[in-house]
Amino acid sequence: MTKYVFVTGGVVSSLGKGVAAASLAALLESRGLKVTLIKLDPYINVDPGTMSPFQHGEVFVTDDGAETDLDLGHYERFITTRMKRANNFTTGQIYKSVLEKERRGDYLGKTVQVIPHITNEIQDFVKRGAGAGTDDAVDVAIVEIGGTVGDIESLPFLEAARQMSLRMGPTNTAFVHLTYVPWIAAAGELKTKPTQHTVQKLREIGIQPDALLCRADRRIPEDEREKISLFTNVPEYGVISMWDVNTIYKVPRVLHEQGLDQLICTKLQLSTRSTDLSRWDTLVKEVEHPQHEVRIAMCGKYTDLSDSYKSLNEALRHAGIHNHARVNIEYLDSEVLENGSVDHLAQFDAILVPGGFGKRGVEGKIRAAQFAREHKIPYLGICLGMQVATIEYARHMAGLEGANSSEMDPEAKHKVIALIDEWQDADGSIQKRDANSDLGGTMRLGAQSSDVKPGTIAHAIYGDVVTERHRHRYEANEHYLDKLQAAGLVISAITQREKLTEIVELPQTVHPWYVGVQFHPEFKSTPWDGHPLFIAYIKAALTQKESKAS
Ligand code: GLN
Repeated sequence: MTKYVFVTGGVVSSLGKGVAAASLAALLESRGLKVTLIKLDPYINVDPGTMSPFQHGEVFVTDDGAETDLDLGHYERFITTRMKRANNFTTGQIYKSVLEKERRGDYLGKTVQVIPHITNEIQDFVKRGAGAGTDDAVDVAIVEIGGTVGDIESLPFLEAARQMSLRMGPTNTAFVHLTYVPWIAAAGELKTKPTQHTVQKLREIGIQPDALLCRADRRIPEDEREKISLFTNVPEYGVISMWDVNTIYKVPRVLHEQGLDQLICTKLQLSTRSTDLSRWDTLVKEVEHPQHEVRIAMCGKYTDLSDSYKSLNEALRHAGIHNHARVNIEYLDSEVLENGSVDHLAQFDAILVPGGFGKRGVEGKIRAAQFAREHKIPYLGICLGMQVATIEYARHMAGLEGANSSEMDPEAKHKVIALIDEWQDADGSIQKRDANSDLGGTMRLGAQSSDVKPGTIAHAIYGDVVTERHRHRYEANEHYLDKLQAAGLVISAITQREKLTEIVELPQTVHPWYVGVQFHPEFKSTPWDGHPLFIAYIKAALTQKESKAS
């Protein structure tokens, strides 16, 4: 039977609940258990797809095309189970489902209420996410409840978790609460009061945590842990210190050494083999002792908030690890690149234009792609980054003056990037869209495959077939492909059926490494294997650096 660990948060957000939950999952996985993670988001949006990355950070995309919370990215990087649509749901989805049932008459005329209808629906969604009762059922599902305890909006989730533990019994459910222990410089003390209060709040709604993960900028001394234990009714061995570390990949060891995984296994009566953290230790060693260093210019719009590019940053770092190099990413605001000089781009070992939406700053991205091409600096364009590379090539190499994407200029003379109305998903189903569809419903989303042209950079990376995840609306316009190819652009991967361009590149006879991809490879990078495209890109950056030095 599937057992559940609920992870809640207190005091403030942004304490690293996702990483804590993922780390616990990784520890249990290393004991040989089949584990998954589920994220519950208390907001009313149906999914984060239409939310601003400024507010919400990156939108993570799963193979099955769900637009999810960025924590699912951490989950996939920490454990081997792949995330699906069912691993993330919001209050909006719960209500949508309950309202649909109500309209269908499923509740037989009863008054539909938060308790039991919403809370039951939440429990059903949690169980579905864990694959309970199916062949895919996991041994343990770690359920991360978004928001902080005390928020009105997360109450139904907490109530559902409490009911679940009542129904399933204490050996089938556990509660882990993440809290904050601030260091007050003026007093020279760590303060436990916020922790006392947040646990009180939790106990008020009937949840007694089994473990507290106490975030602080330092280790929490014995006497403070004793005090927290006394006030919160959590045994001292359950009061676990989670101090700031220089890499998130250290967190599993920090938690393991204080016995978190053993505590959970004891509570859930799971007897397993012992934890093996050797691969985590090797990883941390690689992160901390790089032999080389590269500088990457990331020319994007959301430069203020690196959470908007969470998976991309991680993928670049993973690729660094696999090249024994530290990857220093510098964020350049593409709006600033629009006007004035872009010559400072020459200092970088490689240039990257990430995904993005809308017109703002796009001309700056086009200039960055042009600079990389003309100055033979390794270039990786992701999604919009591939589109701007195509526009740039059309304008300056294929004689298509005024070329643009219809997203940026619906009246453009040459719409080399345009809206395509039909495509086929990796599972064979046909998807359609048009300019009037819902914002959330018009994207090409999730995993799709295409053939790769032999003899290209893409082929050296992927082999014959590439399968990657998508999240975009516009595509390279098939009608311009002949002109672009005649001018020297290589279309190295294209879908068979609809002729959607997946990868463009320049021949290595004219440029050392210039690649644009219509998909988001960053979502599939893990610290263990890295990702072959990013590994090749960082390698090209290292070569560029060496050639500059010599
Ligand atoms: N705005 C572009 C499109 O919708 C690119 C999207 C992206 O970079 N994810 O096609």
